[in-house]
Amino acid sequence: MADPATEDDIALVTKQLGRFPRGMVAVGARCVCGRPLAVITRPQLPDGTPFPTTCYLTSPEAVKAASHVEADGSMQHYTDLVQHDEAIHERYERAHQLYLVFRHELAVRLGDSEEHIAGTSAGGMPVRVKCLHALLAQTLVMGEGANPIGDIVMERIAADFDPKVCRCTTTLDEPAGK
Ligand SMILES: [Zn+2]
Repeated sequence: MADPATEDDIALVTKQLGRFPRGMVAVGARCVCGRPLAVITRPQLPDGTPFPTTCYLTSPEAVKAASHVEADGSMQHYTDLVQHDEAIHERYERAHQLYLVFRHELAVRLGDSEEHIAGTSAGGMPVRVKCLHALLAQTLVMGEGANPIGDIVMERIAADFDPKVCRCTTTLDEPAGK
Protein backbone atom coordinates (compact mmCIF):
# COMPACT_ATOMS: atom_id res chain seq x y z
CA MET A 1 0.00 0.00 0.00
CA ALA A 2 1.50 3.31 -1.09
CA ASP A 3 0.15 5.34 1.79
CA PRO A 4 -1.09 3.16 4.65
CA ALA A 5 -3.42 4.84 7.11
CA THR A 6 -1.81 6.06 10.34
CA GLU A 7 -3.59 6.43 13.67
CA ASP A 8 -3.75 10.21 13.09
CA ASP A 9 -5.24 9.70 9.61
CA ILE A 10 -7.93 7.45 11.03
CA ALA A 11 -8.65 9.91 13.84
CA LEU A 12 -8.93 12.80 11.39
CA VAL A 13 -11.15 10.87 8.97
CA THR A 14 -13.36 9.90 11.92
CA LYS A 15 -13.82 13.64 12.54
CA GLN A 16 -14.39 14.40 8.86
CA LEU A 17 -17.10 11.75 8.52
CA GLY A 18 -18.51 11.95 12.02
CA ARG A 19 -18.09 8.19 12.34
CA PHE A 20 -15.32 5.61 12.40
CA PRO A 21 -14.16 4.74 8.86
CA ARG A 22 -14.64 0.97 8.91
CA GLY A 23 -12.38 -0.91 6.55
CA MET A 24 -10.15 2.09 5.79
CA VAL A 25 -6.77 0.72 4.74
CA ALA A 26 -5.00 3.71 3.20
CA VAL A 27 -5.21 7.36 2.35
CA GLY A 28 -5.89 7.65 -1.37
CA ALA A 29 -5.46 11.40 -1.74
CA ARG A 30 -4.26 14.20 0.48
CA CYS A 31 -4.70 17.96 0.56
CA VAL A 32 -1.52 20.03 0.18
CA CYS A 33 -1.67 20.36 3.98
CA GLY A 34 -1.46 16.56 4.35
CA ARG A 35 -4.99 15.92 5.54
CA PRO A 36 -6.83 13.01 3.88
CA LEU A 37 -9.28 13.97 1.11
CA ALA A 38 -10.27 10.46 0.04
CA VAL A 39 -9.54 7.07 1.54
CA ILE A 40 -9.17 3.54 0.26
CA THR A 41 -11.68 1.17 1.80
CA ARG A 42 -11.24 -2.59 1.58
CA PRO A 43 -13.65 -4.62 -0.58
CA GLN A 44 -15.04 -6.37 2.50
CA LEU A 45 -15.53 -4.54 5.77
CA PRO A 46 -14.18 -6.27 8.90
CA ASP A 47 -17.61 -7.82 9.57
CA GLY A 48 -17.69 -9.25 6.04
CA THR A 49 -20.04 -6.66 4.50
CA PRO A 50 -19.23 -6.20 0.78
CA PHE A 51 -18.11 -2.61 0.08
CA PRO A 52 -17.87 -1.53 -3.56
CA THR A 53 -16.95 2.14 -3.01
CA THR A 54 -13.20 1.58 -2.79
CA CYS A 55 -12.31 5.27 -3.29
CA TYR A 56 -14.31 7.13 -0.66
CA LEU A 57 -14.49 10.92 -0.42
CA THR A 58 -13.90 12.17 3.15
CA SER A 59 -13.05 15.89 2.85
CA PRO A 60 -16.09 17.77 4.20
CA GLU A 61 -15.30 20.69 1.88
CA ALA A 62 -15.25 18.38 -1.16
CA VAL A 63 -18.36 16.49 -0.02
CA LYS A 64 -20.27 19.75 0.35
CA ALA A 65 -19.15 21.13 -3.00
CA ALA A 66 -20.08 17.89 -4.80
CA SER A 67 -23.47 17.87 -3.06
CA HIS A 68 -24.16 21.38 -4.36
CA VAL A 69 -23.49 20.26 -7.92
CA GLU A 70 -25.71 17.20 -7.43
CA ALA A 71 -28.50 19.40 -6.08
CA ASP A 72 -28.44 21.91 -8.93
CA GLY A 73 -29.85 19.47 -11.47
CA SER A 74 -26.63 18.56 -13.27
CA MET A 75 -26.97 14.81 -12.85
CA GLN A 76 -29.15 14.30 -15.90
CA HIS A 77 -26.77 16.43 -17.97
CA TYR A 78 -23.80 14.31 -16.91
CA THR A 79 -25.70 11.09 -17.58
CA ASP A 80 -26.55 12.42 -21.07
CA LEU A 81 -22.86 13.14 -21.60
CA VAL A 82 -21.72 9.62 -20.72
CA GLN A 83 -24.48 8.10 -22.83
CA HIS A 84 -24.30 10.33 -25.89
CA ASP A 85 -20.85 11.90 -26.11
CA GLU A 86 -18.76 9.21 -27.72
CA ALA A 87 -15.40 10.33 -26.31
CA ILE A 88 -16.72 10.72 -22.78
CA HIS A 89 -18.62 7.45 -23.05
CA GLU A 90 -15.39 5.61 -23.86
CA ARG A 91 -13.43 7.32 -21.09
CA TYR A 92 -16.21 6.59 -18.59
CA GLU A 93 -16.17 2.92 -19.53
CA ARG A 94 -12.38 2.91 -19.04
CA ALA A 95 -12.82 4.59 -15.65
CA HIS A 96 -15.18 1.75 -14.69
CA GLN A 97 -12.66 -0.91 -15.78
CA LEU A 98 -9.83 0.91 -13.98
CA TYR A 99 -11.90 0.97 -10.81
CA LEU A 100 -12.53 -2.78 -11.00
CA VAL A 101 -8.85 -3.58 -11.65
CA PHE A 102 -7.78 -1.34 -8.76
CA ARG A 103 -10.22 -3.02 -6.37
CA HIS A 104 -9.33 -6.49 -7.55
CA GLU A 105 -5.65 -5.93 -6.78
CA LEU A 106 -6.64 -4.71 -3.33
CA ALA A 107 -8.94 -7.70 -2.80
CA VAL A 108 -6.18 -10.15 -3.76
CA ARG A 109 -3.69 -8.43 -1.49
CA LEU A 110 -6.07 -8.36 1.49
CA GLY A 111 -7.71 -11.73 0.84
CA ASP A 112 -11.16 -10.09 0.54
CA SER A 113 -13.98 -11.71 -1.42
CA GLU A 114 -15.52 -9.74 -4.30
CA GLU A 115 -18.25 -12.31 -4.78
CA HIS A 116 -21.09 -9.87 -4.06
CA ILE A 117 -19.64 -6.83 -5.85
CA ALA A 118 -18.17 -8.45 -8.96
CA GLY A 119 -18.56 -6.09 -11.92
CA THR A 120 -19.90 -3.30 -9.70
CA SER A 121 -17.81 -0.15 -9.46
CA ALA A 122 -19.21 3.10 -8.06
CA GLY A 123 -21.07 6.30 -8.78
CA GLY A 124 -23.34 4.71 -11.40
CA MET A 125 -20.52 3.62 -13.73
CA PRO A 126 -20.39 2.61 -16.48
CA VAL A 127 -23.74 3.78 -17.86
CA ARG A 128 -25.12 6.43 -15.51
CA VAL A 129 -24.01 9.23 -13.21
CA LYS A 130 -25.51 8.62 -9.77
CA CYS A 131 -22.97 9.87 -7.23
CA LEU A 132 -20.52 12.68 -7.93
CA HIS A 133 -18.76 12.07 -4.61
CA ALA A 134 -17.63 8.63 -5.74
CA LEU A 135 -16.52 9.90 -9.17
CA LEU A 136 -14.64 12.85 -7.69
CA ALA A 137 -12.95 10.46 -5.24
CA GLN A 138 -11.71 8.37 -8.17
CA THR A 139 -10.21 11.45 -9.85
CA LEU A 140 -8.53 12.47 -6.58
CA VAL A 141 -7.12 8.99 -5.92
CA MET A 142 -6.08 8.04 -9.45
CA GLY A 143 -5.36 11.49 -10.84
CA GLU A 144 -6.92 13.71 -13.49
CA GLY A 145 -7.75 11.74 -16.59
CA ALA A 146 -8.90 8.68 -14.63
CA ASN A 147 -12.58 9.64 -14.64
CA PRO A 148 -14.02 12.18 -17.09
CA ILE A 149 -16.97 13.16 -14.89
CA GLY A 150 -14.77 13.34 -11.80
CA ASP A 151 -12.51 15.68 -13.76
CA ILE A 152 -15.43 17.89 -14.82
CA VAL A 153 -16.70 18.09 -11.24
CA MET A 154 -13.27 18.92 -9.87
CA GLU A 155 -12.90 21.77 -12.31
CA ARG A 156 -16.39 23.01 -11.63
CA ILE A 157 -15.97 23.18 -7.83
CA ALA A 158 -12.44 24.62 -7.89
CA ALA A 159 -13.59 27.85 -6.21
CA ASP A 160 -14.79 25.84 -3.19
CA PHE A 161 -12.53 22.79 -3.23
CA ASP A 162 -9.11 22.22 -4.78
CA PRO A 163 -6.58 19.63 -3.53
CA LYS A 164 -3.82 22.15 -4.23
CA VAL A 165 -5.43 24.91 -2.14
CA CYS A 166 -5.96 24.06 1.52
CA ARG A 167 -9.39 25.05 2.80
CA CYS A 168 -9.52 22.30 5.43
CA THR A 169 -11.43 23.04 8.61
CA THR A 170 -11.19 19.67 10.36
CA THR A 171 -8.62 19.48 13.15
CA LEU A 172 -7.76 16.79 15.64
CA ASP A 173 -7.79 19.11 18.64
CA GLU A 174 -11.11 20.92 18.22
CA PRO A 175 -13.41 20.38 21.17
CA ALA A 176 -15.80 17.46 20.85
CA GLY A 177 -19.29 18.43 19.82
CA LYS A 178 -18.24 21.57 17.98
ZN1 LIG B 1 -5.80 21.09 3.77
